[in-house]
Amino acid sequence: QERYDVGLEKTRKSFGERLNAFFAKFRSVDEDFFEDLEDTLIQADVGYETAMQIADELRSEVKLKNAKNKNDIKQVIIDKLISIYDAAGNGEDISMHFAKEGPTVIMFVGVNGVGKTTTIGKMAALYKSQGKKVLLAAADTFRAGATQQLQEWGRRDGVEVVAGPDRADPASVVFDGVQTAIRGNYDVLFVDTAGRLQNNVNLMQELEKMKRIITREIPDAPHEVLIVLDGTTGQNALQQAKLFKDSTDVSGIVLTKLDGTAKGGIVLAIRNEMHLPVKWVGLGEQAADLRPFSPADFVQGLFK
Ligand code: GDP
Repeated sequence: QERYDVGLEKTRKSFGERLNAFFAKFRSVDEDFFEDLEDTLIQADVGYETAMQIADELRSEVKLKNAKNKNDIKQVIIDKLISIYDAAGNGEDISMHFAKEGPTVIMFVGVNGVGKTTTIGKMAALYKSQGKKVLLAAADTFRAGATQQLQEWGRRDGVEVVAGPDRADPASVVFDGVQTAIRGNYDVLFVDTAGRLQNNVNLMQELEKMKRIITREIPDAPHEVLIVLDGTTGQNALQQAKLFKDSTDVSGIVLTKLDGTAKGGIVLAIRNEMHLPVKWVGLGEQAADLRPFSPADFVQGLFK
């Protein structure tokens, strides 16, 4: 909860200030109230559809609960944001899936600069601290320096990294990684992937190829394909999520850099429009700044 409070400071400031200004004008719950609320939510990057849905559901909720004063209504809004998050999508859970036995394979996809490598470094530290034997595979052989960056995290975390030579075939690095994970009795294998190749078609084909190799070696793997999105890019992040979701079986989202944006409402838009669970959020650059996403902590953090 504490990390959320700190990491969401910018969002809280702008979202909270808007809401406070909104409530300062509060007279009664009439149609103007709901229209102003929609505007406030859209400005916080909750997303158009999500804002409309919240307002619609609030209309009936406010009547039902007979909420009349500011605090009652604020509480109804908080509860609504949490429950919309919980109910959106196909009822999928936000927990991580692990192999019943043998190594769990977690693939990370997303465009360059969103924070894939950093997220792997942070998550590796977390799982290692829980006593898991962690292995990293540096399969982003396209971006100059990506392998070194992952190796640097490996050193910092004290975990092994499988890497190939510069411009190695990413599929061969993935193969080595899976073999090493199986033979070395690793608990978790993180696979870093390229965020850019010559073009998007190549990239999607490459990701599919990696997945096939993983599945060939471990039939129920990859257990997670996490798309990493930069929370500061707002609607752009939504577009990226759509692109990857259409061509790879993405199982969840990591939303990074929420500490650097006033538009944390994007979490709700992504969940509600993508029907994909946000499983983790990045609230800073340190290892401890990667947090499992908790809708209740998140929403309450906004209203502190
Ligand atoms: P990649 O190209 O997707 O692997 O991206 P990187 O892992 O290299 O991250 C790009 C930049 O974003 C780096 O400077 C990271 O330190 C920074 N970064 C990643 N996650 C976060 C976060 O949650 N908060 C902040 N403030 N910076 C982050």
